Amino acid sequence: MPMIGIVVVSHSPALAQAAVGLALEMVSGTAPRIEVAAGAGDDIIGTDAVRVAEAITTVAGDDGVLVFTDLGSAVLSAQMATELAGVDKVLLTDAPFVEGLTAAVVSAAQGRALHEVEREARGALAAKTAQLAPEGVADTGAAGGPAGRGAETEDATSQGATSHSVEGSGSPASPERPRPERTPEPTVDALRAEVPLTNPSGLHARPAGMMIGALAGLDARVWVRREGGRGEPVEVTGTTALLMVGARKGDTVEFRAAGADAALALERLTTLAADGFGESDDGPAAAGQVAAGPTTAGPTAAGQPSAGVGVSPGRAVAPIVRRGPGPAEPARRPMPADEREAECVRARSAFAGAADFYRSRAAGQSGQSAQILGVGALLAEDEGLIRAAEQRIREAGDNAEYAVWQAAGQIARQLADAGSLAAERATDLRDVRDRVIALLTHPADTAPGAGGPAATDARPDRYILVAADLAPADTAGLDPARCVGIVTAGGGPTSHTSILARSLGIPAVVAAPQALTYPEGTWLFIDGGTGRIVPDPDEDTRRGAAENATLAFDGTGHTSDGRRISLLANIGSAADAVLAAGHGAEGVGLFRTEFLFLGRTSEPTFEEQVASYRQALAEFPGRKVVIRTLDAGADKPLPFMAANPEDNPALGVRGFRTASARPEVLQGQLAAIAEAARTARADVQVMAPMVDTVEEAARFANAARKAGLPLAGIMIETPAAALTAPELFRVVDFVSLGTNDLTQYTMAADRLSGALASLNDPWQPAVLRLIQGVAAAGQAAGKPVGVCGEAASDPNLAVVLVGFGVTSLSMTPRALGPVAARLKAVPFARCVAAARAAAAAHDARSARDAAAAAAEA
Ligand code: PEP
Ligand code: MG
Repeated sequence: MPMIGIVVVSHSPALAQAAVGLALEMVSGTAPRIEVAAGAGDDIIGTDAVRVAEAITTVAGDDGVLVFTDLGSAVLSAQMATELAGVDKVLLTDAPFVEGLTAAVVSAAQGRALHEVEREARGALAAKTAQLAPEGVADTGAAGGPAGRGAETEDATSQGATSHSVEGSGSPASPERPRPERTPEPTVDALRAEVPLTNPSGLHARPAGMMIGALAGLDARVWVRREGGRGEPVEVTGTTALLMVGARKGDTVEFRAAGADAALALERLTTLAADGFGESDDGPAAAGQVAAGPTTAGPTAAGQPSAGVGVSPGRAVAPIVRRGPGPAEPARRPMPADEREAECVRARSAFAGAADFYRSRAAGQSGQSAQILGVGALLAEDEGLIRAAEQRIREAGDNAEYAVWQAAGQIARQLADAGSLAAERATDLRDVRDRVIALLTHPADTAPGAGGPAATDARPDRYILVAADLAPADTAGLDPARCVGIVTAGGGPTSHTSILARSLGIPAVVAAPQALTYPEGTWLFIDGGTGRIVPDPDEDTRRGAAENATLAFDGTGHTSDGRRISLLANIGSAADAVLAAGHGAEGVGLFRTEFLFLGRTSEPTFEEQVASYRQALAEFPGRKVVIRTLDAGADKPLPFMAANPEDNPALGVRGFRTASARPEVLQGQLAAIAEAARTARADVQVMAPMVDTVEEAARFANAARKAGLPLAGIMIETPAAALTAPELFRVVDFVSLGTNDLTQYTMAADRLSGALASLNDPWQPAVLRLIQGVAAAGQAAGKPVGVCGEAASDPNLAVVLVGFGVTSLSMTPRALGPVAARLKAVPFARCVAAARAAAAAHDARSARDAAAAAAEA
């Protein structure tokens, strides 16, 4: 039976999963393929066009794909994604998210065609509308009311209608709306409080919900606005309205409260914000000041440390280079009527030239960088934008430059006003505008103009680029050997600048407007992990950063007294292997092979697999390369392995468990690895992910040896495996601790959840004690114990792991230098003391402190 695919785009993975779950309840037979593209990565609320494109590709078949979206920028992401995916028959629907999705899933399961399914979905509210709005009662004026507090407005109840104007169904709450039945609008003498946001994602949905909950039962109305934000204050009533405040980590928000309980309301809200809504990684912020009348928060003076949001780790110290300004607003030249068509042609061909520019830059990049530049090309080809410019030329008689400036500026402003993630796309659009105008003004130029860093010749050998914001094309073209840091006044963790900085390995801090006040040439220290910025740093700070930045790994890991510890790299592809070898890795401790399988609807062929493994192995002649067999499921869903949907994939058929369901995939992979190893000079070892029992370990080791791979190990990623390590060592040659999963399963805390980050910490004593037990079992068995989770790349934790008796550490290549440097500074006996002290601690923070003290003692 033909069946369309469905993609659900949402700011919230939980919302999307729940909506899909509900819809699937309605289907008894075969359900359509549904893919969720939710969140913007690293637990960030938002949507991401690249993810959506992947989801579309995953479910695409002959029958087409229907895409559902939730709020504002989801639509933009989905539109970009349809272009990116390059799949035929993709339809974006404006159907209601829950009812529409449910109707679509049912109708798709019946084998209906794409347009029929979409029609069903769009009509899905009809029943509810008819039921709730009889005889012309359609007033939804309660939008500004206290929906989030469970109250109903008098207007609605007095008309006998149930209020269905909940958050998101009307305009955002506004203090202008008359509310005679409630306490007054904010006035100059309303109570005020200001508080900086310290939690990682700022005012996202969860904090918004907490704020609304905190006001429950109080006789107070509270408004919030972002300091420096352009919008009106938003009343603390509905989550959607609060998201529009667009406040992020580092922003200061101002609360204003009126009513009998105003002071109590402010106290509750400022306490919540000052505690980082329970998710701050900076510790409590300074408590908000509560005062009657205006309060001020003066900008940080130049020369004082300040902070933005660290988005790409690493430290740097170098003089500032300011990004050159983009073009000024072009002058308007009225066009005679008979020249307007030719002017339209000129505008259109400049857009095409800009698209070519992005494509040519994308061609020199790979992965996310290439995709981001691809988005620039798509924006430059956006018919809506081009037609808006043409319309100005035809109807208002504008010249092309002015028309493009106005048309793009208007859309960029709308995006900026939508706040948050949509605002970040405004930067991309302005870059497109500037490049088109540069082409119109100087048709021969393609590269310069729209804001590359200031004149190349004048730049120092190493510099930190400071800009109001950077466009993707600017960032992608940076040379990490010279541009050692990036600071922008705007941007956020999901902005393209941040993504590109991470992929280029350039430390970066965003949302740091203070940096714009430092003159060109000022020496600056930045920490891309913490977001700290210090102008004119003292000698110690400079030296520390310079050492950290140049900490290269010399290829031999050891403690200060010469105890060897192999420092290996984690890789996911042949390209990563090249990078790892360049960083001096002693070998590979974890080759994540699922990246070859990701996004595929069928298994890669034997030949493809052999070629990919062979390329990676070629980088490490005579060195150890541990290849992990497929780790599908949970956070790494693989379409071609898709089993029945699971309620809880992290506890479902994942890792080695998939080998029971699909033994031929494991056998095929082992055969391909053996074939690649046959001609390679690397020391090839294999290991299985997520093994729980001795029986599974033995089954894997037998399969590997049967395939001609004599050295077989397993990953220890669950408490079950850690606690049975002595028995596991009887059947395998080595183990490697996957501390990312081991921590998640020990602490029962989803590794993808930002809210649970403090539990998801490998410094938790429970996790440390399990590692300690495994290392002891390895020593007793005389077999190697590696660590290949993120824990291995924390230099202080590396000391502890070595103290437990771990024999190798495998990490992202950039961590090799700092980890090696730390180990080189500590004798083995101190590593042991640090390990004991950490394991004996009662919480993660004291484990860190105790280990540091013992290592230095
Ligand atoms: C781990 O869980 O620590 C690990 C290295 O595996 P992955 O992160 O690929 O799940
Ligand atoms: Mg794992």
